[in-house]
Amino acid sequence: MTAPIVRTKEKLRTLTEKWKANGESVGIVPTMGALHPGHLSLAQAARKATDRVIITIFVNPKQFNNPDDLENYPRTEQDDARKLAPIGVDVLYVPEVDQIYPAGFATSISVNGLTDVLCGAHRPGHFDGVATVVAKLFIQTGADMAFFGNKDFQQLQIVRRMAADLDIPIDVIGCPTIREDGGLAMSSRNLLLSDRARIYAPVLSEVMADMATDLRAGKAMADLQEAALDRLEQAGFASVDYLELRASNDLALLETPSRPSRLFAAVLLAGVRLIDNIEV
Ligand code: AMP
Repeated sequence: MTAPIVRTKEKLRTLTEKWKANGESVGIVPTMGALHPGHLSLAQAARKATDRVIITIFVNPKQFNNPDDLENYPRTEQDDARKLAPIGVDVLYVPEVDQIYPAGFATSISVNGLTDVLCGAHRPGHFDGVATVVAKLFIQTGADMAFFGNKDFQQLQIVRRMAADLDIPIDVIGCPTIREDGGLAMSSRNLLLSDRARIYAPVLSEVMADMATDLRAGKAMADLQEAALDRLEQAGFASVDYLELRASNDLALLETPSRPSRLFAAVLLAGVRLIDNIEV
């Protein structure tokens, strides 16, 4: 059975207050919809860990830098509800914009430091939009646990920092990246790739996996970066925003995996921005 769709924070609160009064734990999976198996894996993780599961679908205008990107973002609510049905989530929270940003809304949450690098350096204001909406969704749902994908690892670390700094009592859980057969990390934006671009897209994860192997074997980023960029260019990637090794906890730039670290990339392929990261 498809889960009920709730569109107002008042109706949501009626449900969550009842659950809390019964001593039930609540999990939340924030998404922007156009659900794919990556999102569904988060819903499954929540289903296992908490008594009640809320999936939120909100295409957050404040985290888009480009009006066309916001306009073109896929919206597939009925399909999303159908895909979630077998998992048995309790509610889909699909707020209208005024439920998140009431008239006169004037507050923004900025997480310093972690947002200066990687996607933060290329998408001004993006992570303020993310931190603000996620804080609101945490507060509106009163959830005990939140499930995020490692696919957006910088976002995960920013959300963890924000919740800790604001004393929001929630456990933020990072879940593995789900990939297509060729290795391409699943993303709602993959729907925008042409058939031709789809053929080349997996080269990104191949290049990253090879770099990770070489880094583990003792090579440094300086030895690997040029050849990797060449491979990406030859495969048709128009530009590379970044291809960097960074510490997992504070995202400090590294030359070698001297502490727990991940390789991060953002590239443009046929007009579609793809991001990926893997543990080194
Ligand atoms: P989005 O709808 O793109 O904002 O993503 C919602 C959540 O799904 C975020 O926590 C993402 O990190 C997560 N997510 C997106 N793609 C994947 C994937 N391929 N594997 C695992 N989690 C993902």
